[in-house]
Amino acid sequence: MIELQDKSLLQTGLFMGGAWREASTGETFAVTDPATGEIIAECAKGGAEDAEAAVAAAEAAQDDWAARPAKERAGILGKFYHLIVENADDLAQILTAEQGKPLAEARGEILYGAAFFEWYAEEAKRVYGETIPTPNRGQRLLVLRQPIGVCAAITPWNFPMAMIARKAAPALAAGCTMVLKPATSTPLSALALGELARRAGVPDGVFSIVPGPASTVGDTLVASDAVRKITFTGSTDVGRTLMSRAAGNIKKLSLELGGNAPVLVFEDADIDVAVRGAIASKFRNAGQTCVCANRIYVHDAIYDRFSEAFTRAVKAMKVGPGREAGTEIGPMIDEAALEKVEEHVSDCVDKGGTVAAGGQRHALGGTYYEPTVLTGAIQSMLIAHEETFGPVAPLFRFSCETEAIQLANDTEYGLAAYLFTRDAARQWRVGEGLEFGVVGVNTGIVSYEGAPFGGMKASGVGREGSRHGIDEFLETKYLCIGEIGS
Ligand code: NAP
Repeated sequence: MIELQDKSLLQTGLFMGGAWREASTGETFAVTDPATGEIIAECAKGGAEDAEAAVAAAEAAQDDWAARPAKERAGILGKFYHLIVENADDLAQILTAEQGKPLAEARGEILYGAAFFEWYAEEAKRVYGETIPTPNRGQRLLVLRQPIGVCAAITPWNFPMAMIARKAAPALAAGCTMVLKPATSTPLSALALGELARRAGVPDGVFSIVPGPASTVGDTLVASDAVRKITFTGSTDVGRTLMSRAAGNIKKLSLELGGNAPVLVFEDADIDVAVRGAIASKFRNAGQTCVCANRIYVHDAIYDRFSEAFTRAVKAMKVGPGREAGTEIGPMIDEAALEKVEEHVSDCVDKGGTVAAGGQRHALGGTYYEPTVLTGAIQSMLIAHEETFGPVAPLFRFSCETEAIQLANDTEYGLAAYLFTRDAARQWRVGEGLEFGVVGVNTGIVSYEGAPFGGMKASGVGREGSRHGIDEFLETKYLCIGEIGS
C-alpha cells in the first residue's frame, strides 16, 4: 500500500489528450514493489493503437502550443514546477514504492526533476535568434529557432521522474509536444506527473503518457512519421537499436546511455574527501545510476589507507526497505540485476580479486545485495569493462598520472568520471584528458539542472540540462530576405 495525502496522484490509466483512459488492449500489467515483491497497482497496458492516438493528439496540439508566446508557455511550466514541489512527499512515496530507492533519495530526485521545469520555464523566454551581416545590398539574413515538433520520449526505471523531467521540460519550453513511454517497471511516477501537468494547465495533447511494452508502444513511436524526434535514456544496446531504426525516416535523436565511470584517487588527495565522494557516487540508488562509480583507481602510495577507510565506511551502510528511516541502500530492481552483480563479483574473485566487504546476497532476501568492496581488481575483469549497475566497488591500482588517464579512458563509454587531487594543475590536466562528458573534481555528486549532462563515445548523443538542453528540441532556420531596398 502506498500512503498518500492526495490519492488522486496514484493514476493507473493512459494519459492522452488531457484525459485519463483505459488501454485499447483492455489489458493491464502489475507494478510491483521491489522491497517486498508485492503488487502495488495494476496499470493500463497501452498498445500500438494507443501510441498512435497519443501521437495524433500531439500533432493536433502542436501548432497552437508552438504559436503561444514563450511567456505563456513559461507560465504553465512554472505552475507545473510549483505543483511538483508542493506534492514532493507523495511523489517520493510513489517513487520509492515502485523503484525501491530510499525515501530521502526519492525526494531528492523529485526536487531535482522539478528544478528542470523551473529552469526551462525561464529559458523558454531566451530562445534567441540572430541577424547576420548581409553580403549583398537589399538583403537581410536572419536565423530563427523553431520547435522541432512532435517528440517521443522513452525513459528508464532508475530515475522514474527525473529522466522524464530532463526531457519534457525543455521540449515543452521550446514549443514541442511530447508523447512519453515510461519504463514498464516504474510507470506510476510518470503518470503522477501527467496528473500534475493537467492541473498546471498544460493544454490537451501537449504531453501524453502511454505505458506499455517496448515492442508495441516503443516501436510505434519510433516508426511514426509524425514523430520528428526521439529522446531516449536507457541502455547502450537499446540506444543502438533506436539509432538504426530512426534512420528509416531520419529522425533526430538524443541518447543518454550507459556509463562505466572511473574514479581516480591521486596520492595528494584528501582521503576523507575521496572516500566520501566515491561512496556518494558509487552507492546512490544501490549503485543503479548511469553516473555511478564503476571502477575506483587508487594510487599505489595511498591504496592501503584508502581501501581501509573506504571499506570501513561501506561496512557501516544500512541496507533495508527504502521507506524505512535511515536506509542508505534499498533493494535492486529485479533478479536479473542481482544476477549481473553476482557474475561481476565471481569473475573478479576467479581472476584474483579479494572481497573486502559484502560479496553476497543480503540476509534480507528478495533482491537485496550487500554493499561490496573488491580489492586487487585488474583490467581483464568484466567489472572493468561492463556497467555493473549494483552496489559493488572494485578498487584498482595505478602508479602515475599518465597511466591513470589511460586506464580511465580504456572503455567504450564516456559519461561521467571523477578525480580526487588537491593539485590544481593536475585537476586541469586530468580533467581535460578524460574522454567523458561530465567530470567531477573532488566531488562525487555532479548533477545540476543548469549544467549540461551527457555522454561521449557509446554513452550517447546530445545534452540535457542548461541552455544547451533546449537546443535539442529546436530547429535552426535561416531566412534570406531579398529585394528590400537599400
Ligand atoms: P533499457 O532496458 O534500455 O530501457 C529503457 C527504456 O527503453 C524503457 O522504457 C524500455 O521499455 C525501453 N525500450 C527497451 N527496448 C526498446 C525498444 N526496442 N524500442 C523502444 N523502447 C525500448 O534501460 P533500463 O534498464 O531501463 O535503464 C538502465 C540503463 O539506462 C543503464 O544502462 C543506465 O546507464 C542508463 N541510464 C543512462 C542515463 C544517462 O543520462 N546517460 C540515465 C539513467 C540511466 P521497457 O521498460 O518496457 O522495457
